Amino acid sequence: MADDRDVTSPDALDDSELAIEGALRPGSLAEFVGQQKVRGQLQLLLDAARIQQRPADHILLAGPPGLGKTTLAMIVAHESERPLRMSSGPAIQHAGDLAALLSSLTPGEVLFIDEIHRMARSAEEMLYLAMEDFRIDIMVGKGAGATSIPLDLAPFTLVGATTRSGLLPNPLRDRFGFTAHLEYYEPEELERVIARSADKLGVRLGEAQRAEIARRSRGTPRIANRLLRRVRDWALVKSGGGEAALADVRAALELYDVDEIGLDRLDRAVLDALVRRFRGGPVGLSTLAVAVGEESDTVESVVEPYLVRIGYMGRTPRGRVATPEAYAHLGIAHPDGALHLDDL
Ligand code: ADP
Repeated sequence: MADDRDVTSPDALDDSELAIEGALRPGSLAEFVGQQKVRGQLQLLLDAARIQQRPADHILLAGPPGLGKTTLAMIVAHESERPLRMSSGPAIQHAGDLAALLSSLTPGEVLFIDEIHRMARSAEEMLYLAMEDFRIDIMVGKGAGATSIPLDLAPFTLVGATTRSGLLPNPLRDRFGFTAHLEYYEPEELERVIARSADKLGVRLGEAQRAEIARRSRGTPRIANRLLRRVRDWALVKSGGGEAALADVRAALELYDVDEIGLDRLDRAVLDALVRRFRGGPVGLSTLAVAVGEESDTVESVVEPYLVRIGYMGRTPRGRVATPEAYAHLGIAHPDGALHLDDL
């Protein structure tokens, strides 16, 4: 994918991107920046498991892409000194896929299932029993002659990640001992992520440069790291050194079309459609998604949470609405009589 979403997309893109992310990933809870509450909760859960010498309770990590869910799953395995097995919802399309995965786990292993809301329904049902009793029933044969054979599993810790916790059926959600809701990061926290990554990448950045990148990172560490790498490239190519001046930062971000508050092409398209085409709303999510040529799911889980968080979009029972701040950002006069959030 080489469109202009690349640099500000919160999604990881390809293998080389994933390899670089790996190098920048914090390896312990102490190194993990921000999310203080979640860190404290996870620490307690892991400490209790360690004292009792048992696998930690199952953990559900919920939040938009790029906020650190995979990183936390790795940290859970690392801190509890257990091996980690990684899978994802889309890879588990039959109960048999899950049975094969679960029955091959070693005692105490941490199983990470990314995008767990996209797992097949039949696998979900198998997972309930596995999570609760470390047991599954395997169906053998078909029709009237079918029998189920119980199979004991090694105890394990499931770490599930989802961008859409609302899509998980209640029985599955209830079987997690702890659900962590990851929040967008504050600019100061992103500055710390950037400082740490800059050290690792060998690029020198002053405070003003870090703040500038943080401000445009959409509250997301993955984007902060990616923008930092583009700034590093710019400094290397244009200024021939490991030091990036504020002008380098601005020029690099301008080149990649990152706006001054970090909104990407899709964010801007959604805002633009909401304000111009639908006159500020209210408009239904699916209509809005069609207008920008995107899946409703992406608009709902990637675009909307950030626009709501920065106060540019409101979610009301009658649909999505643009706030006066959204008009101001697009440089469009706010029409008299336009809907205000408080009126709805
Ligand atoms: P998710 O699984 O939620 O999409 P990841 O765990 O893959 O997000 O995180 C994306 C990148 O952002 C990681 O490579 C890591 O370098 C960085 N990152 C995420 N959270 C943090 C954090 N709290 N502190 C430092 N770096 C982070």
